[in-house]
Amino acid sequence: MGYVKFLGTAGARFVVARQLRYSAGTWIELGGSQLLLDPGPGTLLRLRKSRPPLDPLKLDAILLSHKHLDHSTDVNIVIEAMADGGYKKRGALFAPADALEGDDPVVLRYVRPFLERIETWQAGGEYAVGQVMVRPVSHAHGTVESYGLVLDSADGRMGFVTDTRFSPGLAAQYAGCHLLVLNVVLKDWRPDVDHLCIPEAGEIIAAVKPHLAVLTHFGTTMLRGNPRALATSLAEKVGTRVVAASDGLAIEASEWGLAAAGRTWHNGMRNKEGT
Ligand SMILES: [Zn+2]
Repeated sequence: MGYVKFLGTAGARFVVARQLRYSAGTWIELGGSQLLLDPGPGTLLRLRKSRPPLDPLKLDAILLSHKHLDHSTDVNIVIEAMADGGYKKRGALFAPADALEGDDPVVLRYVRPFLERIETWQAGGEYAVGQVMVRPVSHAHGTVESYGLVLDSADGRMGFVTDTRFSPGLAAQYAGCHLLVLNVVLKDWRPDVDHLCIPEAGEIIAAVKPHLAVLTHFGTTMLRGNPRALATSLAEKVGTRVVAASDGLAIEASEWGLAAAGRTWHNGMRNKEGT
């Protein structure tokens, strides 16, 4: 049975720069495969300090949603660690084209030979990692190429609505997700920011109707508004279980997956980091 662990929950520049929340990525164990989504600043440190520690050598793949620094800063060092310091050729990297090519690629050419497999996300594509099928969803997010992800495994369907501007067609891309994780930087809507706010997240959750929705990637207005309280009031509004992630929060598949259908919610989520 798999789980997902939020090593960091910071979004937006101020929260990341001040480290008001950690900005590490998200570890996903599914179908016996170990995946790491968006290794932002401090990911290697948070992997090693996790309780129990998470070993990059056990990773099967790194999934990069887009090249912004809060998602990609540690990608090179985690690639090297995944390949045992570059002494083993192992692991896969999935990344947008502009993270790999063009004027300012964030993945160093120096580490690329350490990887067994490098895949460039193609909208409409499907990628197998062990027993997990990964499908990228095109997002609109500033000037960079950005993707959300849908992960299918025997545990069920998991969706990561990573950084994106809202669009009415977004929810349909995440149809059938049992767990829906949303990067919600903003409490209230702002016209000039390509990020989701609470009301937009509510609209997506209400349309997808997952077993469990998790809010993460918080900006300043979310932290000031108290993410836990905002998640609770959103849950009441949309009639779905909604929780706010905290640094170190782990959620077992039994809480959201196919096995969770019809189960009453119990607070079996672990947060051993105590943050
Ligand atoms: Zn971004």
